[in-house]
Amino acid sequence: MQEAAKRNVPVMIHAHGDEGARAAVLAGAKSIEHGTFLSDETLQLMKERETFLVPTFITLEDLTQPGGDYVGPVLELRGKFMMPQAEKVFKKAHALGVKIATGADNGYTANTISRISLECAHFVRMGMSPYEAVQAATVRSAELLGLSSSTGQIEKGFDADFILVPGNPLEEIRFLQDVLLVVSNGRIALKRIPFGKK
Ligand SMILES: [Zn+2]
Repeated sequence: MQEAAKRNVPVMIHAHGDEGARAAVLAGAKSIEHGTFLSDETLQLMKERETFLVPTFITLEDLTQPGGDYVGPVLELRGKFMMPQAEKVFKKAHALGVKIATGADNGYTANTISRISLECAHFVRMGMSPYEAVQAATVRSAELLGLSSSTGQIEKGFDADFILVPGNPLEEIRFLQDVLLVVSNGRIALKRIPFGKK
């Protein structure tokens, strides 16, 4: 953390346990990934220091499911044990106003079963408004990554990074799971609809 601070490099810390996470927050971590067993005191510290929480709920869920990035009986038990705990922490963090961003601790390959759209759906199920969940995946994530001035929102002068979905995610967050078009920095990366051709 000290070496990173010398060069202004933000540090993300993957921590399930409270003790390590708390030490990381006190040392100036930009974000805590997982945070499964965070205490109320550590969450309060995160609120004060504006440390992000990246719950990676979908990754905990992946542990419990066949296929995906994480498979095995021990991981399955761990995931089932951690999910209710992570849910409690999420609800407390959200109520406290801790900054929350989406993230997935996996390879994000074609075989990956967890997706950010599913993380957003979990956030809504656990008490966020759909608008907050979309923000967690966009403006909040951009802020965490130090990219607030170039991406995370559709704005003049920003990179053209956006997706097209078949309905309003503010009415039904699961629309995020059916991506029709991905535009990355102005270039079409995925197109599932006949569009713009005569
Ligand atoms: Zn991790």
